[in-house]
Amino acid sequence: MSEIPGSRSRALRARLAARESRNVTYLADDFPVFWESASRATVTDVDGNRYIDLTAAFGVAAVGHANPAVAAAIAEQAQRMMHGMGDVHPTEVRVQLLERLLQVAPRGLERAFLATTGSEVVEAAMKTAILATGKSAFAAFAGAYHGLSLGALAVCGIEKFRQPFAAALPLRPLLLGFPHAAMPLGDALDAARATLRAHDDLAALFVEPIQARGGCIVPPHGYLRGLRAVCDELGVLLVFDEIYTGFGRTGEWFACAHEGVTPDLLCLGKAMGGGFPISALVGTSAVMDAWPASSGEALHTSTYLGNPMGCAAALATIDQLERLGLPARAKRLGTELAPRLEAIAQTRGVAAVRGRGLMWGIELHDSAHADRAVRAALARGVIVLQAGTRGEVLSVTPPLVIGESELERAFSALRDAISQSF
Ligand code: PMP
Repeated sequence: MSEIPGSRSRALRARLAARESRNVTYLADDFPVFWESASRATVTDVDGNRYIDLTAAFGVAAVGHANPAVAAAIAEQAQRMMHGMGDVHPTEVRVQLLERLLQVAPRGLERAFLATTGSEVVEAAMKTAILATGKSAFAAFAGAYHGLSLGALAVCGIEKFRQPFAAALPLRPLLLGFPHAAMPLGDALDAARATLRAHDDLAALFVEPIQARGGCIVPPHGYLRGLRAVCDELGVLLVFDEIYTGFGRTGEWFACAHEGVTPDLLCLGKAMGGGFPISALVGTSAVMDAWPASSGEALHTSTYLGNPMGCAAALATIDQLERLGLPARAKRLGTELAPRLEAIAQTRGVAAVRGRGLMWGIELHDSAHADRAVRAALARGVIVLQAGTRGEVLSVTPPLVIGESELERAFSALRDAISQSF
């Protein structure tokens, strides 16, 4: 281990600072480290320091960093054909992926289209809902994060991301309060119903089954199912953004399965490609068929739609999730972590611990403590992220393949980091 950050990270930091747009990377004397390689749940930086990754790099590396089966699928596909023609001449691998995706998707969702990023899929869901309902206003939740493209900002529930661009945003979302698990279910649903009912121009309600960037907030059990009933009653489409929670993260293939509820539209991304950028909008035929048949020029498409390497990566990722039983593993590890999480909940400066499967939030009393804890964890060889609307939460979303002893070690280092940075 060298100093963290070591000399090569520090030299690269100076070069990055000179060239990259100022907004992108937070730079300080002790932050960040530059990654050189990553495998399973281990990241190695350019100075040779090794870390346990408790983020899966924003939840993407669910099947592990550089999963060999995914890497081989991308390499094989890259040698045969890297790029196809989005909406004109398709590829067989795209057909295979669509079929496979709809096999693992919640029952009742029968059509999909592919894209590259999460924000794009959120925008595609918005367009779909507009076509299907003839309405164009949207409801979402305070604290929601659905991506930062201009379209996706129209359903963003974190004001600081919207505020500088507010004048250019066509819509202001109707924001509902996102209930914590302890809120009585009936009260939470009554509040949602009352707010939604006051508006007759709503095309859809966007919801993250567990609010991720907002601080890993788990709603009361039954809330998602209740929202389904409220939306049906009011004629509003229900969109689940499972870009973070999807593909096993919470202990089921998709978090909506915890309540046996199926949305009209499901947004997927992140873990789907095992590290290759690919995303998908999946929906019921009734809603998706609001799109007119292409008459030669697609009404919605993009250059990289169904990129063959992305499709091959996603097929291999789904195969790995299934073969290694990763959704069930996430569930088991989440249960086994209970004593560890309880110990963390008792640590000085910790206000709450919540989550499910391998998606946990550790809420600290303030963001300054969370900021210090992230750095203290890094110095102990553990990578975690800050989340929460005030930056007061540590978000823990390791690769689903993380070793049990690795997870133990990482949690014990994290606990020390939290306690010593209080
Ligand atoms: N929705 C959710 C729930 C997310 O967590 C994210 C990314 N963190 C997005 C949408 C946006 O995805 P992307 O950054 O790929 O545009």
